[in-house]
Amino acid sequence: MLPGSGPDAFAGSVDEILAALDQDPVLVEEVMGNGNTESISAELSAKASTSPVPVFVVLTKAPPELTTDNTAEELLTLLHAQSGWDGVWFVSTADIGHTAVAVYGDVAPGIDNAETVLSSALSQATGAANTLIHHDCRHCSASPAADAGLVLDILNTGIPQTYGEQPLSDEQIEAYTTSTWVKPDTQTAFYDRAELPTPGLYAMVATLTAVCVFVAGYRLVQAIGGQGHPRLGTAAADAGRARPARPVDPQVELERARSRAVSAVAKLGRTLERKGDRIDWKRRDIAAACLERAESRTTSDDLLEVVGAEVLADTGLHAIARTEGQYRGCYVDPRHGRAATEASLGGGLHVPVCPTCDRRLTTGAALEPLLERRRFGSRRAYYEGSSVWATTGFGSLGGDWWQEVPR
Ligand SMILES: [Zn+2]
Repeated sequence: MLPGSGPDAFAGSVDEILAALDQDPVLVEEVMGNGNTESISAELSAKASTSPVPVFVVLTKAPPELTTDNTAEELLTLLHAQSGWDGVWFVSTADIGHTAVAVYGDVAPGIDNAETVLSSALSQATGAANTLIHHDCRHCSASPAADAGLVLDILNTGIPQTYGEQPLSDEQIEAYTTSTWVKPDTQTAFYDRAELPTPGLYAMVATLTAVCVFVAGYRLVQAIGGQGHPRLGTAAADAGRARPARPVDPQVELERARSRAVSAVAKLGRTLERKGDRIDWKRRDIAAACLERAESRTTSDDLLEVVGAEVLADTGLHAIARTEGQYRGCYVDPRHGRAATEASLGGGLHVPVCPTCDRRLTTGAALEPLLERRRFGSRRAYYEGSSVWATTGFGSLGGDWWQEVPR
């Protein structure tokens, strides 16, 4: 029992979390439990009890004393530093991309870099679970609790000896496709809300947009890549016109994007406050919806989420400033700024692009798309992925796209 707290009280500080972990190495706070706190907690505890190595699992909201943007990583580091407990640690502090895994001590003799191998195995397992989950629900995904469960399953099954190996059986993966472990479809939840006038239309637009983007993305890859080369980089290299990749440190790139996003979001907040009651409710609602979605993303560690925050802010600012049209950035990389024209991708398909990308498409030069960082270091053009940013082209494809972005 925590000092001075009832059985249902949150462990709100680092000290309280440590006190709770001292009693039970699995801590699942209500806020992370998705309405299934008890069953998740029981299942994770059962899995932890059979782990061959010490494990510590913390699913909580970030304690207020944390000072960095990467709250999961910071909390994990603090908890380990204060406790000195070696083993495998898994910490998640929020729904949007805030999870951290670390291995302290020699928990897996014979494996050179247990933390890297475990992270890679987790990435494989989460990817496999999400593939199954997306089959039933396009906007659903494995929750942080599922990630925790997968880590424990991997430990119980045995950390694989090599990178990139699928560590779990199909049955083990399938267990995470039930509602207990799945982050719900926020889009459906949003459509169910009463204030939305035409949910059917929105759903149709969303579906059409998704189909168009899929086709557009595919065509773009084909157009850029040349015949028979589905991969952008490889194809460009084969064609002898690849630019040397600019060596931007991912952390530097992320922080640059964050600083742009933070200032755009702050500007939207100020502008909405100042002018909100002087514009019509429709535009005000768009700005407010964008602001709400943007604010929670500026602290993310996922580059796409942070860039998305900036685009959401630009979309909100446009809605406040103008009665016509909407903000559309460059489809290839929204950081290029406002799209100036539409470029043909063949087959009658066009996407909005900035002047530089337009020139590159015209001359056949390689594009420099926004890259999605996948676990374990590999990267791909974001539109080759399945994120909400890929399906909406960061809003460049129009429609009420921000409604597809989870809150
Ligand atoms: Zn561009």
